Amino acid sequence: MTIMKVENDYSGTFSCPLCKQKSRFYAHQLLYSRSHTSFYSVDCNACAKHSLWKEFIQHHNGTFKVKLIDPITSSAPSPAEDMPEDVRKDFLEASLVSIYSSKAAAALLRLSLQKLCKHLGQPGKNINEDIRALAKEEGFSQRLVKAADTVRIIGNNAVHPGEMNDEDIDDVCHGLFQLVNLIVSTAITEPKKWNDLYDKAPESKRLAAEKQDAS
Ligand SMILES: [Zn+2]
Repeated sequence: MTIMKVENDYSGTFSCPLCKQKSRFYAHQLLYSRSHTSFYSVDCNACAKHSLWKEFIQHHNGTFKVKLIDPITSSAPSPAEDMPEDVRKDFLEASLVSIYSSKAAAALLRLSLQKLCKHLGQPGKNINEDIRALAKEEGFSQRLVKAADTVRIIGNNAVHPGEMNDEDIDDVCHGLFQLVNLIVSTAITEPKKWNDLYDKAPESKRLAAEKQDAS
């Protein structure tokens, strides 16, 4: 976030890491060490709780960028409701490390996708082959193939030198979490919902329709 100094006060609006609300804050400079690093205790106007931030870029217009130091929390989206347990574990780990490294998060999301392919009926050994097989399946739309390829390619290139620069990975990282969630909700949650609804239709009528389709 960005803090602005007005006379001796530091204030602005931010997304509070504790109450998750958009709110005004008031900051107090805590330390200006020999390494020319400032830390700020930031009070949220909405929840009255404090968070600790470190200054890392000063702009000429009197504003400066700060990074959250405490509490350790991530702005990454929460995992989709029906995300399988082993996929969710990697997804949450990616969320935690994304605070410090988008590269590490992208690589972990690729791993979570590889495990997800297994839940979608693929061997789970070679992620590219799994996605190519899913692309041939009815019900796995081109949109999902694109989402899966994006996570696969960026997750791979993020950890290979010279393929992508750090800033680009920072920019797309949040979107990769959303893509994994999209695949879970479209390939797992939606079909489950449709099946549940179908099962609520009178059984005799369903069986008659299925018999007609089969003939
Ligand atoms: Zn708050």
